[in-house]
Amino acid sequence: MPDRNKSAELFEAAKRVIPGGVNSPVRAFRSVGTEPVFYHHAKGSRVWDADGNEYIDFVGSWGPMILGHAPDTVLDAVRRQLDLGTSYGAPTEIEVRMAEAVAAAVPSIEMVRMVSSGTEATMSAIRLARGFTGREKFIKFDGNYHGHSDALLVAAGSGLLTLGIPSTPGVTKGAAADTVVLPYNDLDAVAAALAAEGGEVAAIIVEPVAGNMGVVPPADGFLQGLRDLCDRYGVVLIFDEVITGFRVALGGAQERYGVTPDLTTLGKIIGGGFPVGAFGGKREIMERLAPVGPVYQAGTLSGNPIAMVAGLALLAELSKPGVYEELERKGARLETGLRAAVEAAGIDAYLTRVGSMACMFFTAEEVRDWTSAATSDTERYAAYFRGMLERGITLAPSQFEATFVGLAHTDDDIDAMTEAAAEVFSAL
Ligand SMILES: *Cc1c(COP(=O)(O)O)cnc(C)c1O
Repeated sequence: MPDRNKSAELFEAAKRVIPGGVNSPVRAFRSVGTEPVFYHHAKGSRVWDADGNEYIDFVGSWGPMILGHAPDTVLDAVRRQLDLGTSYGAPTEIEVRMAEAVAAAVPSIEMVRMVSSGTEATMSAIRLARGFTGREKFIKFDGNYHGHSDALLVAAGSGLLTLGIPSTPGVTKGAAADTVVLPYNDLDAVAAALAAEGGEVAAIIVEPVAGNMGVVPPADGFLQGLRDLCDRYGVVLIFDEVITGFRVALGGAQERYGVTPDLTTLGKIIGGGFPVGAFGGKREIMERLAPVGPVYQAGTLSGNPIAMVAGLALLAELSKPGVYEELERKGARLETGLRAAVEAAGIDAYLTRVGSMACMFFTAEEVRDWTSAATSDTERYAAYFRGMLERGITLAPSQFEATFVGLAHTDDDIDAMTEAAAEVFSAL
């Protein structure tokens, strides 16, 4: 068992000055029954903790590090920009190039605005949809997470699922009153809700591949069905592609599944490891934003030049031919290895994968929504997590998160992961 004394010391110090010792709750490792590992540095597929232990990393900063950690192209772009200044609060050519790159990659996006997190992107997209339609309600799905703004913190995915907080104190009834929550992958429920109150619904926001209750792919016809219903009732369809954007295809889930939303929210990968989010879509909707339109939205550090050059450099790498085929191949290798490990150990598991994002649910049930995801044995996941950590493999510290493969993972890295999983499963 590797020594993690320095992490333990830092955690004690952290708890004195940071609530729970962490700046985002799931990092505290509470649901996996152990203490957080404090990181010191990272490169490629590897991270090193404060005690100098090395791990093969399958978290990738929760998604952004699709090229692996500290890729040279991104670092070089950032170094060049540092000497030119780190923030101006004024427009730059870099933002124009970034917007052009995003519009070229993502089918639904004609215009885009940059923000500093996924939370800001989804919050702003909801406001814009309400401003555009003049309606107040919106539909979200149980177990989908769209950041931590008040109206979206209802039945909201991993952090909350993991902590078991059904709806958080601090969100007023008023803020949540216009949020309608329906089961994921249940088109009939959406049709019924819209038949009842379609004229009051501004938007449907959906993770086109759910990634915050584990990984749950959309059922056949679900996304197209949402598209058709939105057209029929004049509802703005928002794909929250903060995880899936540039992950399941260059153009995200909308490219992969061939369904085009009205608005798209982006985050994680788009910042190349810096704090960035974005929302974009149809010109007629986006031009309702200030200063051309009446819907207000702003940000001091929005379009930050360091973050923009990092994101641009990353998107340039992802635009090269063969990248998504390679991610698919690596994802399939991981899936094959994990399936073999499950079979050899004879344990109950339901494995999902879309491209380079995967999830092992410890349940015998088919997972297609939050109710079925919640049948997972989270104690088993916790044991899996700890067993892997002891073998030098990092997984997300929650059953309800994705395992991410990136371009820096070699076949040997992936095989080391699935061989470690086979050992751990056989001892469960
Ligand atoms: C991570 C995430 C968010 C929130 O993004 P932050 O940058 O953490 O604010 C929103 N939507 C989805 C689908 C996410 O996975």
